[in-house]
Amino acid sequence: MINLVDLRRQFQSVKNEIMYAINEVIDSGQYILGPKVMELEKKIAKRIGVQEAISVANGTDALVLTLDAYGIGKGDEVITSPFTFFASAEAISRVGAKPVFADIDPVTYNIDPKEIEKKITSATKAIITVHIFGQPAEMDDILEISKKYGLYVIEDACQAFGASYKDLEVGNLGDAACFSFFPTKNLGTMGDGGIITTSDKDLATRIRKLRTHGTTRKYYHDLIGYNSRLDELHAAILLVNLSKIDEWNGQRRKLADRYRTHLKDAPHLQLPMEASNRSHIYHLYCIHSENRDEIMDRLEAADIQTGVYYPQCLHLQEVYSFLNYKKGDFPIAESLSERLFAVPMHPLLTEIEQDEVISVLLQKEVD
Ligand SMILES: *Cc1c(COP(=O)(O)O)cnc(C)c1O
Repeated sequence: MINLVDLRRQFQSVKNEIMYAINEVIDSGQYILGPKVMELEKKIAKRIGVQEAISVANGTDALVLTLDAYGIGKGDEVITSPFTFFASAEAISRVGAKPVFADIDPVTYNIDPKEIEKKITSATKAIITVHIFGQPAEMDDILEISKKYGLYVIEDACQAFGASYKDLEVGNLGDAACFSFFPTKNLGTMGDGGIITTSDKDLATRIRKLRTHGTTRKYYHDLIGYNSRLDELHAAILLVNLSKIDEWNGQRRKLADRYRTHLKDAPHLQLPMEASNRSHIYHLYCIHSENRDEIMDRLEAADIQTGVYYPQCLHLQEVYSFLNYKKGDFPIAESLSERLFAVPMHPLLTEIEQDEVISVLLQKEVD
Protein backbone atom coordinates (compact mmCIF):
# COMPACT_ATOMS: atom_id res chain seq x y z
CA MET A 1 0.00 0.00 0.00
CA ILE A 2 1.32 3.47 -0.90
CA ASN A 3 -0.14 5.94 1.56
CA LEU A 4 -1.01 9.60 1.13
CA VAL A 5 1.15 10.29 4.18
CA ASP A 6 3.27 7.80 6.09
CA LEU A 7 3.58 8.99 9.67
CA ARG A 8 5.07 5.75 10.93
CA ARG A 9 7.90 5.97 8.45
CA GLN A 10 8.41 9.66 9.17
CA PHE A 11 8.61 9.23 12.95
CA GLN A 12 10.79 6.09 12.59
CA SER A 13 13.31 8.25 10.76
CA VAL A 14 13.76 10.48 13.83
CA LYS A 15 12.92 7.95 16.52
CA ASN A 16 16.28 8.06 18.32
CA GLU A 17 16.29 11.86 18.61
CA ILE A 18 12.67 11.84 19.79
CA MET A 19 13.31 9.13 22.40
CA TYR A 20 16.24 11.19 23.70
CA ALA A 21 14.11 14.35 23.84
CA ILE A 22 11.25 12.56 25.61
CA ASN A 23 13.70 11.22 28.18
CA GLU A 24 14.91 14.75 28.82
CA VAL A 25 11.32 15.86 29.48
CA ILE A 26 10.70 12.95 31.85
CA ASP A 27 13.85 13.80 33.79
CA SER A 28 13.09 17.54 33.89
CA GLY A 29 9.89 17.09 35.90
CA GLN A 30 8.38 20.04 34.00
CA TYR A 31 5.46 18.99 31.85
CA ILE A 32 3.47 22.18 31.21
CA LEU A 33 5.06 25.40 29.89
CA GLY A 34 8.55 24.16 30.63
CA PRO A 35 11.89 24.87 28.93
CA LYS A 36 11.11 22.93 25.72
CA VAL A 37 8.00 25.04 25.10
CA MET A 38 10.02 28.23 25.66
CA GLU A 39 12.76 27.00 23.32
CA LEU A 40 10.28 26.04 20.60
CA GLU A 41 8.50 29.41 20.81
CA LYS A 42 11.83 31.28 20.60
CA LYS A 43 13.11 29.20 17.69
CA ILE A 44 9.90 29.51 15.68
CA ALA A 45 9.62 33.28 16.26
CA LYS A 46 13.25 33.74 15.21
CA ARG A 47 12.96 31.58 12.13
CA ILE A 48 9.78 33.24 10.91
CA GLY A 49 11.12 36.68 11.77
CA VAL A 50 8.44 37.83 14.23
CA GLN A 51 8.63 39.14 17.78
CA GLU A 52 6.46 36.51 19.43
CA ALA A 53 5.32 32.92 19.09
CA ILE A 54 2.71 31.60 21.53
CA SER A 55 2.03 27.87 21.54
CA VAL A 56 -1.46 26.51 22.22
CA ALA A 57 -3.27 23.15 22.27
CA ASN A 58 -4.07 22.93 18.53
CA GLY A 59 -4.46 24.92 15.33
CA THR A 60 -8.16 25.54 15.86
CA ASP A 61 -7.46 27.08 19.26
CA ALA A 62 -4.73 29.20 17.68
CA LEU A 63 -7.44 30.76 15.49
CA VAL A 64 -10.00 31.00 18.31
CA LEU A 65 -7.60 32.63 20.79
CA THR A 66 -6.35 35.08 18.16
CA LEU A 67 -9.89 36.18 17.25
CA ASP A 68 -10.79 36.38 20.95
CA ALA A 69 -7.66 38.40 21.76
CA TYR A 70 -8.64 40.89 19.04
CA GLY A 71 -12.02 41.26 20.75
CA ILE A 72 -13.86 39.83 17.74
CA GLY A 73 -17.25 38.36 18.64
CA LYS A 74 -21.00 38.82 18.40
CA GLY A 75 -22.06 41.28 15.68
CA ASP A 76 -18.72 41.07 13.88
CA GLU A 77 -17.99 39.52 10.49
CA VAL A 78 -14.82 37.76 9.39
CA ILE A 79 -14.15 36.94 5.74
CA THR A 80 -12.55 33.63 4.82
CA SER A 81 -12.36 30.99 2.10
CA PRO A 82 -15.16 28.47 1.51
CA PHE A 83 -12.49 26.02 0.31
CA THR A 84 -10.54 25.03 3.43
CA PHE A 85 -10.72 22.74 6.44
CA PHE A 86 -13.81 23.47 8.56
CA ALA A 87 -11.80 24.93 11.46
CA SER A 88 -11.02 28.14 9.52
CA ALA A 89 -14.72 29.06 9.74
CA GLU A 90 -15.52 27.15 12.93
CA ALA A 91 -13.16 29.39 14.90
CA ILE A 92 -15.06 32.47 13.68
CA SER A 93 -18.36 30.93 14.81
CA ARG A 94 -16.83 29.77 18.09
CA VAL A 95 -16.13 33.36 19.18
CA GLY A 96 -19.68 34.36 18.21
CA ALA A 97 -18.84 36.19 14.98
CA LYS A 98 -20.24 35.49 11.52
CA PRO A 99 -18.15 33.76 8.84
CA VAL A 100 -18.51 35.44 5.46
CA PHE A 101 -17.16 33.52 2.48
CA ALA A 102 -15.54 34.81 -0.71
CA ASP A 103 -14.71 32.68 -3.75
CA ILE A 104 -11.20 31.51 -4.55
CA ASP A 105 -8.66 31.89 -7.32
CA PRO A 106 -8.79 29.02 -9.85
CA VAL A 107 -5.00 28.80 -10.09
CA THR A 108 -3.83 28.91 -6.44
CA TYR A 109 -7.14 27.79 -4.81
CA ASN A 110 -6.62 30.60 -2.30
CA ILE A 111 -9.16 33.32 -1.52
CA ASP A 112 -9.46 35.83 -4.39
CA PRO A 113 -8.70 39.38 -3.20
CA LYS A 114 -11.24 40.88 -5.64
CA GLU A 115 -13.96 38.70 -4.11
CA ILE A 116 -12.94 39.74 -0.58
CA GLU A 117 -13.55 43.39 -1.36
CA LYS A 118 -17.12 42.68 -2.50
CA LYS A 119 -17.94 41.12 0.88
CA ILE A 120 -16.76 43.90 3.15
CA THR A 121 -19.46 45.58 5.29
CA SER A 122 -19.38 47.92 8.27
CA ALA A 123 -19.34 44.79 10.49
CA THR A 124 -16.23 43.26 8.90
CA LYS A 125 -13.34 43.09 11.37
CA ALA A 126 -10.83 40.67 9.89
CA ILE A 127 -9.81 38.45 6.99
CA ILE A 128 -8.58 34.91 7.61
CA THR A 129 -6.41 33.99 4.63
CA VAL A 130 -5.69 30.29 4.31
CA HIS A 131 -2.48 29.20 2.57
CA ILE A 132 -4.25 26.19 1.15
CA PHE A 133 -2.30 22.95 0.54
CA GLY A 134 0.93 24.82 1.39
CA GLN A 135 0.84 27.66 -1.15
CA PRO A 136 0.79 31.24 0.23
CA ALA A 137 -2.21 33.41 -0.61
CA GLU A 138 -1.99 36.63 -2.67
CA MET A 139 -0.81 38.64 0.33
CA ASP A 140 0.11 41.98 -1.28
CA ASP A 141 -3.43 42.50 -2.58
CA ILE A 142 -5.00 41.22 0.64
CA LEU A 143 -2.88 43.55 2.78
CA GLU A 144 -3.76 46.49 0.56
CA ILE A 145 -7.48 45.78 1.07
CA SER A 146 -7.00 45.35 4.82
CA LYS A 147 -5.26 48.71 5.03
CA LYS A 148 -7.93 50.44 2.99
CA TYR A 149 -10.74 49.15 5.27
CA GLY A 150 -8.87 48.86 8.58
CA LEU A 151 -9.14 45.08 8.93
CA TYR A 152 -6.92 42.56 10.71
CA VAL A 153 -5.29 39.94 8.53
CA ILE A 154 -4.94 36.56 10.21
CA GLU A 155 -3.03 33.91 8.28
CA ASP A 156 -4.34 30.39 8.62
CA ALA A 157 -0.93 28.85 7.98
CA CYS A 158 -1.89 25.41 9.34
CA GLN A 159 -0.87 23.72 6.08
CA ALA A 160 2.13 25.84 5.21
CA PHE A 161 4.99 25.88 7.72
CA GLY A 162 8.11 27.05 5.90
CA ALA A 163 6.35 28.26 2.74
CA SER A 164 7.33 31.74 1.63
CA TYR A 165 5.98 34.76 -0.21
CA LYS A 166 8.57 37.09 -1.77
CA ASP A 167 11.28 37.32 0.92
CA LEU A 168 9.11 36.43 3.90
CA GLU A 169 7.96 33.19 5.41
CA VAL A 170 4.29 32.59 6.07
CA GLY A 171 3.57 33.55 9.64
CA ASN A 172 5.16 36.94 9.01
CA LEU A 173 2.80 38.21 6.32
CA GLY A 174 -0.25 39.51 8.20
CA ASP A 175 -1.04 40.78 11.71
CA ALA A 176 -0.99 37.31 13.24
CA ALA A 177 -0.71 33.75 11.97
CA CYS A 178 -1.92 30.37 13.18
CA PHE A 179 -0.19 27.02 12.71
CA SER A 180 -1.28 23.47 13.52
CA PHE A 181 1.00 20.65 14.65
CA PHE A 182 -1.58 17.92 13.99
CA PRO A 183 0.39 14.78 13.01
CA THR A 184 -0.35 14.93 9.27
CA LYS A 185 0.61 18.61 8.89
CA ASN A 186 3.99 19.21 7.29
CA LEU A 187 5.36 20.17 10.72
CA GLY A 188 3.49 17.88 13.11
CA THR A 189 3.79 16.13 16.44
CA MET A 190 2.45 12.81 17.79
CA GLY A 191 -0.75 14.47 18.95
CA ASP A 192 -2.36 17.91 18.86
CA GLY A 193 -0.60 21.25 19.02
CA GLY A 194 -0.60 24.74 17.56
CA ILE A 195 1.18 28.08 17.63
CA ILE A 196 0.45 31.74 16.89
CA THR A 197 3.10 34.05 15.48
CA THR A 198 2.87 37.84 15.59
CA SER A 199 4.95 40.97 16.06
CA ASP A 200 2.13 42.64 18.01
CA LYS A 201 3.36 42.48 21.61
CA ASP A 202 0.00 43.45 23.13
CA LEU A 203 -1.79 40.77 21.17
CA ALA A 204 0.81 38.22 22.28
CA THR A 205 0.35 39.22 25.91
CA ARG A 206 -3.42 38.78 25.68
CA ILE A 207 -3.06 35.39 23.99
CA ARG A 208 -0.58 34.24 26.66
CA LYS A 209 -3.14 35.23 29.28
CA LEU A 210 -6.03 33.58 27.44
CA ARG A 211 -4.25 30.23 27.10
CA THR A 212 -3.90 29.98 30.89
CA HIS A 213 -7.38 30.83 32.19
CA GLY A 214 -6.98 34.58 31.64
CA THR A 215 -4.25 34.95 34.21
CA THR A 216 -0.63 35.97 34.40
CA ARG A 217 -0.50 35.85 38.20
CA LYS A 218 -1.61 32.50 39.54
CA TYR A 219 -5.15 32.51 41.02
CA TYR A 220 -5.84 36.15 39.98
CA HIS A 221 -7.88 36.30 36.78
CA ASP A 222 -8.59 39.31 34.62
CA LEU A 223 -10.02 37.58 31.56
CA ILE A 224 -12.28 34.59 30.91
CA GLY A 225 -9.76 32.38 29.21
CA TYR A 226 -9.10 28.86 28.10
CA ASN A 227 -6.95 25.92 29.07
CA SER A 228 -5.05 25.69 25.80
CA ARG A 229 -1.37 24.93 25.98
CA LEU A 230 1.15 22.90 24.05
CA ASP A 231 2.40 20.01 26.20
CA GLU A 232 6.09 19.97 27.02
CA LEU A 233 6.35 16.50 25.46
CA HIS A 234 4.99 17.77 22.16
CA ALA A 235 7.36 20.74 22.23
CA ALA A 236 10.26 18.28 22.67
CA ILE A 237 9.09 16.23 19.66
CA LEU A 238 8.50 19.38 17.62
CA LEU A 239 12.03 20.66 18.30
CA VAL A 240 13.33 17.49 16.65
CA ASN A 241 10.96 17.83 13.69
CA LEU A 242 11.70 21.56 13.36
CA SER A 243 15.37 20.67 12.81
CA LYS A 244 14.25 18.49 9.86
CA ILE A 245 11.55 20.70 8.37
CA ASP A 246 13.64 22.34 5.66
CA GLU A 247 14.93 18.98 4.50
CA TRP A 248 11.38 17.56 4.56
CA ASN A 249 9.88 20.53 2.73
CA GLY A 250 12.71 20.29 0.20
CA GLN A 251 11.88 16.63 -0.34
CA ARG A 252 8.21 17.54 -0.91
CA ARG A 253 9.23 20.13 -3.50
CA LYS A 254 11.49 17.63 -5.21
CA LEU A 255 8.67 15.09 -5.42
CA ALA A 256 6.35 17.80 -6.76
CA ASP A 257 8.91 18.54 -9.49
CA ARG A 258 9.01 14.85 -10.39
CA TYR A 259 5.21 14.67 -10.60
CA ARG A 260 5.28 17.71 -12.87
CA THR A 261 8.03 16.33 -15.12
CA HIS A 262 6.21 13.06 -15.67
CA LEU A 263 2.58 14.21 -15.74
CA LYS A 264 2.68 17.61 -17.38
CA ASP A 265 1.68 16.33 -20.81
CA ALA A 266 -1.25 14.22 -19.65
CA PRO A 267 -4.28 16.08 -21.04
CA HIS A 268 -6.70 14.62 -18.49
CA LEU A 269 -4.71 15.91 -15.50
CA GLN A 270 -4.32 19.50 -14.41
CA LEU A 271 -1.40 19.76 -11.99
CA PRO A 272 -1.07 22.23 -9.12
CA MET A 273 0.41 25.53 -10.27
CA GLU A 274 2.96 27.49 -8.33
CA ALA A 275 2.23 31.20 -8.58
CA SER A 276 5.15 33.58 -9.05
CA ASN A 277 7.06 35.03 -6.09
CA ARG A 278 6.24 32.24 -3.69
CA SER A 279 7.38 28.85 -2.55
CA HIS A 280 4.74 26.12 -2.17
CA ILE A 281 5.58 23.35 0.33
CA TYR A 282 3.03 20.84 -1.02
CA HIS A 283 1.41 19.84 2.25
CA LEU A 284 -0.98 18.12 -0.18
CA TYR A 285 -0.48 17.39 -3.86
CA CYS A 286 -3.92 17.82 -5.43
CA ILE A 287 -4.62 17.13 -9.09
CA HIS A 288 -7.62 18.47 -10.99
CA SER A 289 -9.46 16.13 -13.36
CA GLU A 290 -12.83 15.75 -15.04
CA ASN A 291 -12.50 11.99 -14.47
CA ARG A 292 -11.71 12.12 -10.77
CA ASP A 293 -13.74 9.11 -9.68
CA GLU A 294 -12.44 6.87 -12.43
CA ILE A 295 -8.81 7.78 -11.71
CA MET A 296 -9.26 7.36 -7.96
CA ASP A 297 -10.77 3.89 -8.53
CA ARG A 298 -7.81 2.94 -10.67
CA LEU A 299 -5.35 4.11 -8.00
CA GLU A 300 -7.26 2.29 -5.30
CA ALA A 301 -7.16 -0.92 -7.34
CA ALA A 302 -3.37 -0.52 -7.50
CA ASP A 303 -3.20 -0.14 -3.68
CA ILE A 304 -2.47 3.57 -3.85
CA GLN A 305 -4.26 5.78 -1.36
CA THR A 306 -6.00 8.98 -2.50
CA GLY A 307 -8.08 11.63 -0.74
CA VAL A 308 -10.52 14.38 -1.55
CA TYR A 309 -9.80 17.84 -0.13
CA TYR A 310 -12.48 19.09 0.23
CA PRO A 311 -15.62 17.23 -0.88
CA GLN A 312 -18.02 19.83 0.58
CA CYS A 313 -17.41 23.58 0.53
CA LEU A 314 -17.95 25.38 3.83
CA HIS A 315 -20.82 27.59 2.60
CA LEU A 316 -22.77 24.42 1.77
CA GLN A 317 -22.18 22.67 5.12
CA GLU A 318 -25.43 21.79 6.82
CA VAL A 319 -24.41 23.56 10.01
CA TYR A 320 -24.11 26.80 8.01
CA SER A 321 -27.53 26.55 6.34
CA PHE A 322 -28.61 29.47 8.58
CA LEU A 323 -26.20 31.70 6.64
CA ASN A 324 -28.43 31.17 3.56
CA TYR A 325 -25.80 30.41 0.98
CA LYS A 326 -26.81 28.21 -1.95
CA LYS A 327 -25.16 26.02 -4.56
CA GLY A 328 -23.76 28.26 -7.28
CA ASP A 329 -22.68 31.07 -4.93
CA PHE A 330 -18.97 30.19 -5.26
CA PRO A 331 -18.59 28.41 -8.60
CA ILE A 332 -14.81 28.03 -8.49
CA ALA A 333 -14.70 26.50 -5.02
CA GLU A 334 -17.66 24.24 -5.86
CA SER A 335 -16.14 23.05 -9.10
CA LEU A 336 -12.88 22.16 -7.34
CA SER A 337 -14.73 20.20 -4.67
CA GLU A 338 -15.99 17.98 -7.52
CA ARG A 339 -12.71 17.62 -9.40
CA LEU A 340 -9.67 17.73 -7.08
CA PHE A 341 -8.03 14.66 -5.57
CA ALA A 342 -4.81 14.20 -3.61
CA VAL A 343 -2.12 11.66 -4.45
CA PRO A 344 0.67 10.41 -2.15
CA MET A 345 3.00 13.20 -1.01
CA HIS A 346 5.24 13.05 2.03
CA PRO A 347 8.96 13.50 2.63
CA LEU A 348 9.69 9.78 2.98
CA LEU A 349 7.91 8.75 -0.24
CA THR A 350 10.47 6.94 -2.40
CA GLU A 351 10.96 7.58 -6.11
CA ILE A 352 10.08 3.94 -6.79
CA GLU A 353 6.73 4.40 -5.03
CA GLN A 354 6.16 7.69 -6.79
CA ASP A 355 6.89 6.09 -10.17
CA GLU A 356 4.17 3.54 -9.43
CA VAL A 357 1.68 6.33 -8.71
CA ILE A 358 2.76 8.14 -11.89
CA SER A 359 2.34 5.06 -14.06
CA VAL A 360 -1.22 4.49 -12.82
CA LEU A 361 -2.05 8.18 -13.34
CA LEU A 362 -0.83 7.92 -16.94
CA GLN A 363 -2.83 4.77 -17.67
CA LYS A 364 -5.76 6.82 -18.94
CA GLU A 365 -3.60 7.69 -21.92
CA VAL A 366 -2.99 4.06 -22.81
CA ASP A 367 -6.64 2.98 -22.67
C1 LIG B 1 -5.58 21.46 10.30
C2 LIG B 1 -6.14 22.78 10.01
C3 LIG B 1 -6.72 23.58 11.02
C4 LIG B 1 -6.93 23.09 12.42
O1 LIG B 1 -5.81 22.62 13.07
P1 LIG B 1 -6.01 21.57 14.30
O2 LIG B 1 -4.64 21.52 14.90
O3 LIG B 1 -6.43 20.28 13.71
O4 LIG B 1 -6.99 22.14 15.23
C5 LIG B 1 -7.16 24.83 10.68
N1 LIG B 1 -7.07 25.30 9.42
C6 LIG B 1 -6.55 24.56 8.42
C7 LIG B 1 -6.46 25.14 7.06
C8 LIG B 1 -6.08 23.28 8.68
O5 LIG B 1 -5.59 22.55 7.68
